[in-house]
Amino acid sequence: MHPKIYHATEHDINHGLIDPDAIHVIQKLRDAGFSAYLVGGSVRDLLIKKSPKDYDISTSARPEQIKHLFGRNCLLIGRRFRLAHIRYGHKILELSTFRSGENESDLILQDNVWGTEEEDVRRRDFTINGLFYDPSTHTVIDYVGGWEDIHKGILRSIGDANIRFKQDPVRMIRLLKFRARFGFDIDPDARKALVNCRSEITKSSAARLLEEILRMLESGASASFFNLMNEAGLLELLFSSLAHFLKGKQGKEIYLLLTSADKMNRKNLKSPLDRSVLTACLLYPIICQEIQTQFLDKDRTPHAGDITLLAATVTKDVLTSSFTHFPRRISSTTAFLLATQFRLTPISPKKHHRPKVIRHKEFKLALDFLEIRACVDKKLVETYNTWKQIYKQQERHGEHKAHHPAPFPRG
Ligand code: ATP
Ligand code: MG
Repeated sequence: MHPKIYHATEHDINHGLIDPDAIHVIQKLRDAGFSAYLVGGSVRDLLIKKSPKDYDISTSARPEQIKHLFGRNCLLIGRRFRLAHIRYGHKILELSTFRSGENESDLILQDNVWGTEEEDVRRRDFTINGLFYDPSTHTVIDYVGGWEDIHKGILRSIGDANIRFKQDPVRMIRLLKFRARFGFDIDPDARKALVNCRSEITKSSAARLLEEILRMLESGASASFFNLMNEAGLLELLFSSLAHFLKGKQGKEIYLLLTSADKMNRKNLKSPLDRSVLTACLLYPIICQEIQTQFLDKDRTPHAGDITLLAATVTKDVLTSSFTHFPRRISSTTAFLLATQFRLTPISPKKHHRPKVIRHKEFKLALDFLEIRACVDKKLVETYNTWKQIYKQQERHGEHKAHHPAPFPRG
């Protein structure tokens, strides 16, 4: 099939937004006689005038040929799905060789079957992610109808949505991620397939699911994403207690925290809030409810130890006992910064209270979460500012560094 070609006069891709290293890599492949294009998310983002986060390059060069061309800067990764990573300082560009997919079969049997450029885009998930961009001629190359769908704002599977979702159920999460991020409509076939294939989600790779969910927490559209996930019944299958809480009366508290975090992240998409801070948005209202029912309703005040225990239990119940097991690195920090909230804003305030926790190496993360809470509840703004000042003073005096020389983890 001949692709549709859209020339520079028909699109307004800002060529200046494209990473010069990506252009250089494509040119080098071309000079060596291979074809090479930008593909996928970066082309989509350029067309909707968002700055791409990462650049994927598709080429006719085989992994060994890429390695030969780029030498020490190139690392071949993945056994099942061989990719080349080309390193430029801290940045990594991902190169994949044109592959053929298995559109009509239910199972992806083998990933390293080399194919033509058309086959390469046909194995991709949605039409909006199936466009090539040729930086040397400034043309968009469209085999799948992605151009029109981007301009109409439609999310459409490449091929039969039922088959594509069964082949790889993570695509259902990706569908909702693009709906949340861009506000695009889901085409009726994909909508029906989402209902039909919903239960397949638990057959997908937990690691890939988790990565998509964590990326969505950072995306600036997390409130909308979790709402869509819940409406589609996917959250129920992945995090059942969270899904129930969100549907209940206090569910809106979680959405308010996510919305505040989204606002903060949208201002700084390149370095979003830490994943543990964002994860805390999902749990804080649940802990508050537990404190209410287990303690306050019974006229009991929880001690610091009770709260630490509760934070650990809720984190475990919601996140680590579920299908999509959050890594300990995130869940233990989340539990810490949740428990710390009740020291920063104690249930029964004490005068001249300055807990030792301020010296903890992850205190800054607890402070970031307090900032999110203060965006929801303006009464907390003053408290947040006071803590921020105390923290800054302490940093200036090197108190913090003396105890924990490691920098704060971010992003
Ligand atoms: P993001 O902006 O979140 O990075 P993306 O679409 O670029 O979104 P990536 O995970 O970076 O997502 O994937 C790059 C490209 O690889 C996609 O645009 C799509 O063409 C293809 N792709 C990714 N995941 C799948 C999948 N599950 N099935 C088919 N194609 C996929
Ligand atoms: Mg991408």
